[in-house]
Amino acid sequence: MSKKPRSYKPVSGFVLPRFAGIATFMRLPHVPLEDLAEVGDVDIGLIGVPWDGGTTNRAGARHGPRQIRDLSTMVRNVHHVSGISPFTLANCADLGDTPVNPIDLQESIDKIESFYAEVHKAGVLPLSAGGDHLITLPIMRAIAKQRPVGMVHFDAHTDTNDRYFGEHKLTHGTPFRRAIEEGLLDPKRTVQIGIRGSLYTAQDMDWGRAQGIRVITIEEYFDLGVEAVIAEARRVVGDGATYLSFDVDGLDPVYAPGTGTPEIGGYSTHEAQRMIRGLRGVNLVGADVVEVAPPFDTSGATALVGATLMYEILCLLAEIVAKQ
Ligand code: MN
Ligand code: MN
Repeated sequence: MSKKPRSYKPVSGFVLPRFAGIATFMRLPHVPLEDLAEVGDVDIGLIGVPWDGGTTNRAGARHGPRQIRDLSTMVRNVHHVSGISPFTLANCADLGDTPVNPIDLQESIDKIESFYAEVHKAGVLPLSAGGDHLITLPIMRAIAKQRPVGMVHFDAHTDTNDRYFGEHKLTHGTPFRRAIEEGLLDPKRTVQIGIRGSLYTAQDMDWGRAQGIRVITIEEYFDLGVEAVIAEARRVVGDGATYLSFDVDGLDPVYAPGTGTPEIGGYSTHEAQRMIRGLRGVNLVGADVVEVAPPFDTSGATALVGATLMYEILCLLAEIVAKQ
């Protein structure tokens, strides 16, 4: 029996109303990982990583994927500015959640990496919903082994800390330090946008900058303006393989209160949408939206932000698939 889904189109809101049915990302068909190779024609996989064991303060992002799936049912077909119709350009599917062990960090990191290795082997572009920001490290371990990737990183925090409580090297504040050390991430092709908030020490940003990361603090962001920031991000990452990682705490907590480590004074959701659209044509090899924490998201607004930013990113990925 063929395991090929009948269609990669989202369930039409005119057939089954958008509030009904089992929630998958953007109402796409669910293709379990074990069927992915046999199915053979998925271009873009939407994946949940229900993991927040790297969180150092307020936990809850483990609940992100389920909540984002629910709010992603608000997404329709056609992008209202670019006119891109991602579900027409590419075969998109919900690949489900990665396995994790909520009480074992190392086991979880290994399981997440194995999952993405299978996705990568199948030639599928991953678009992920976290989970805390540590999930990006095992994703990069799976997809960036052949060559380091560049990165456009939206965040209030650099996530290039070294250690936590002495010896612990894997938290949601350390993934990009590890990724650079492991040769997965090219710091000279990395741009961080929106950095702010009080620091542990005055030297917190020194290491990353010494590696060559282009750090755009929120003050510089507002001084430059959206268009100049887009141009600078494109200059930094160039034509090479690039990962896009969007931590929702890069947004002002007015727009995204449902997150573990909010920092006031960030960009708006509209500005974030403009920046993502400005990355059209960048050579993206994967992306994630992380740190949506439903326990702090009393209105559900932050999950809607996460789902909508995933859609913005999906439009970029679908266009890349269509041009291949
Ligand atoms: Mn982060
Ligand atoms: Mn952050």
